[in-house]
Amino acid sequence: MCTSTLEHPHTHQHSTTDGAPLSYADPAQQPRELERTIEAGDHFIGLVRAGQHLRITDLHGNQAADTLFFSADDTAERYSAMDTVREQGKVYLTIGTVLYSTRGRPLLTITGDTCGRHDTLGGACSSESNTVRYDLEKRHMHSCRDNWMLAIARYPKYDLTKRDIGHNINFFMNVPVTADGGLSFEDGLSGPGKYVEMVAERDVYVLLSNCPQLNNPCNGYDPTPVAISISDSPLG
Ligand SMILES: [Zn+2]
Repeated sequence: MCTSTLEHPHTHQHSTTDGAPLSYADPAQQPRELERTIEAGDHFIGLVRAGQHLRITDLHGNQAADTLFFSADDTAERYSAMDTVREQGKVYLTIGTVLYSTRGRPLLTITGDTCGRHDTLGGACSSESNTVRYDLEKRHMHSCRDNWMLAIARYPKYDLTKRDIGHNINFFMNVPVTADGGLSFEDGLSGPGKYVEMVAERDVYVLLSNCPQLNNPCNGYDPTPVAISISDSPLG
């Protein structure tokens, strides 16, 4: 894969307005606790240590946070929508949901949720889906898949490649299953300040794309920032 158009990962400055890095090039260097605002169309990659709490807040409402989780010990083990849905017997995620890995082990458990429902079926936007769903002219537009690809290229120490990009959770997104088994992308149930919080059952990497999608009501056609917090104590 040609990465010559990407900035060199060791010199790239991807930081917040106060100068702190948004994500750390080496997960071992990340402070135990942090809070970051992720602008729409931006990405976050980081480490949540076993027993820590991770909160994602929908700052303005109607946003979608497209998120992948990986076992930090071995990134070949990752969040599995199929295992999670089968083990819960439910297609929507909320308080009490255990997020299972591709090896059937718990990665995180949702402990707080003021939105009430999160999607794990709809997948993430990509240039391909933008083209198929909307228009050939939408192909160049920013997408969650491109955000993830940029993140894993910028942060090689997380040991992720494009074949690790699988199905994801769409936090705050409302994708009802229709009576005939289809999916419909609806206006969000979320609102300003609503959050989801989970506790890590093992050390996990979180890879989040704050969706830049302008063609889908999941963002109210106006993508907005989300906040992410990682803490030793419960935030809710
Ligand atoms: Zn997206």
